[in-house]
Amino acid sequence: MKILIRILKNAKPRPVLVLLYFILIILHTIFRIINFTALIPILRLLFDTEGFEIPSEQPDFSFSERYFQEAFYYQLGDILTISGKEQALYFICAILVLSVLLSNVFQYLATLIQAKVRIDAVSNMRKLVFERVTRMELNYFTETRRGDIMSRINADAFQVEMTVVNTLKILLKEPFLIIGFFYALFSISPELTFYTLLLIPISGIVISFVAKRLKKRAFKVQESVSRMSSIIDEAITGMRIIKAFSARNYTLRKFDAEINEYSKQSFKMAVKNHLSSPISEFLGVLFLSLLLIIGGVQVLSNHSDLDAAEFIIFLILFSQILNPAKSISNAVTTIQRGLASGARLFEIVDRKIPISEKPNAIVLNEFKGQIEFSDVHFSYEEKPNLTGIDFTLDKGKIIALVGPSGAGKTTIAELIPRFYDVERGAVMVDGYDVKDLELNSVRRLMGIVTQDSILFNDTIFNNIAFGKEDATIEEVKKASKIANALEFIDELPEGLNTMIGESGSKLSGGQRQRLSIARAVLKNPPILILDEATSALDSSSEKLVQEALFNLMKNRTTLVIAHRLSTVQHADQILVLEEGKVVQKGTHADLIKTRGLYSKLLEMQSLH
Ligand code: ADP
Repeated sequence: MKILIRILKNAKPRPVLVLLYFILIILHTIFRIINFTALIPILRLLFDTEGFEIPSEQPDFSFSERYFQEAFYYQLGDILTISGKEQALYFICAILVLSVLLSNVFQYLATLIQAKVRIDAVSNMRKLVFERVTRMELNYFTETRRGDIMSRINADAFQVEMTVVNTLKILLKEPFLIIGFFYALFSISPELTFYTLLLIPISGIVISFVAKRLKKRAFKVQESVSRMSSIIDEAITGMRIIKAFSARNYTLRKFDAEINEYSKQSFKMAVKNHLSSPISEFLGVLFLSLLLIIGGVQVLSNHSDLDAAEFIIFLILFSQILNPAKSISNAVTTIQRGLASGARLFEIVDRKIPISEKPNAIVLNEFKGQIEFSDVHFSYEEKPNLTGIDFTLDKGKIIALVGPSGAGKTTIAELIPRFYDVERGAVMVDGYDVKDLELNSVRRLMGIVTQDSILFNDTIFNNIAFGKEDATIEEVKKASKIANALEFIDELPEGLNTMIGESGSKLSGGQRQRLSIARAVLKNPPILILDEATSALDSSSEKLVQEALFNLMKNRTTLVIAHRLSTVQHADQILVLEEGKVVQKGTHADLIKTRGLYSKLLEMQSLH
């Protein structure tokens, strides 16, 4: 119930729409009942039965059912006496057609409102969850499968959408249709109506039997959909490797296993889910037959007021109650599924984000002094990944991090923009602990260029202008020139407007890197965090990238994860890391004098 209330709250349907929906449903119900009751005089006309109570004079107007009924019969009487039965039939049919038309127009308008509320609900839900996902700390994305997040935002949000529709129906539509039909039934025969009331508790029992445990089952199905999306996502991303290693079978097997699980769970759910419709239909006809016996005996015996025409319409109206009743039982099952999905979505919304700003976080507009690591300890999981890291990077200087793979270089770089929080010690910018600063204000001071250039499936312009929303064409061109990218951009037929494909797949490695350098140049941050590419670029491309990086580093404060001798020699200080510790510290000139890890690394590099 709590989840349902949250779903509806989040859907935020406009009250005026809900009210309008309600009014339209009432109008629809009224005209629908008129449709059926208009059949009574038709049957009477055709069968020539007795009992036409035609008022002798025009009734006085009042806004009541009685007035409309009497006015109708008065008109009908008029037509019957003046023009005969055939004309009367035309008259009734005209009313029938008109009321069907109106009832359907009102139904259509109500459905449109329902669609609007449904679409708004799912959009709000997706916005809320996606916004939340973009706030998550980086660790969340290493621990959560992408496919899982995607399937929640797509498939689960869709289930929630259905829940909103069905709640609307269950609260504002079907009960009123049922009440309307019961009212009509009651005015035809209170006695028979009493028997039909027995249907309600029995239907309730059936519905609750079907809905039981459906939510749990639905949860399992949605989880399986998530895992399936993950497998598809990984397979598509890694298709090159899958083909290169002839690992198609591995992927297919994994997918098959998940599909089997999905089929099993879905079928178990279907077994119950689809029970509701046949059971309610069967019960409905069973009741219909009982009524036929009870009412039929009354009609045949001529003892009651009920005539054959009324009895037939009674049965038809009763059969109409079955539809909203069936719709309620279906809605209950759909809502159960939606609640399971809602729970999965709110899991994301409610997740505590460990890296978040303090309420009175300090805004840092300018970088004036230094970045300082003070006795920093950090671990991703249990095993410590950094221990006792101490260094100061003064404004305008370059610090290079070197060391074997896995030593902790990237981790150090990622602590500066507070992608992770340290366990002990502090990372400080201009004397402030980054934990006390407004996240955006710190990150705005930094440009980050990583080894794998993160590009989006968009134009070159938008990929470069990405960190600066109001960038002009001139600025983007200037940045591309500094990043040695303008030449190749100009050669492309659509220049800056060229779409670069998924993750920039239409560009070469060197071109991708120069675009991400151009992005950093445009942002023009005082602090630069650089992860030099190790991927083998051809020498001319490497030269262009190298030049671009030097241009970028001019007049900035840089922390560089260095792989090249040339960069290391320019650094003001080199930190040599091994297993999360700084094992050597100094300039290139200092470090080559002592035999240690640094000299070893240099030797290894010059062997290449
Ligand atoms: P380097 O950049 O020097 O190659 P990293 O800083 O990337 O090293 O990694 C340091 C250690 O942290 C490695 O042992 C690596 O396995 C581990 N590590 C890196 N990222 C994660 C992560 N998201 N979760 C768990 N362990 C990680």
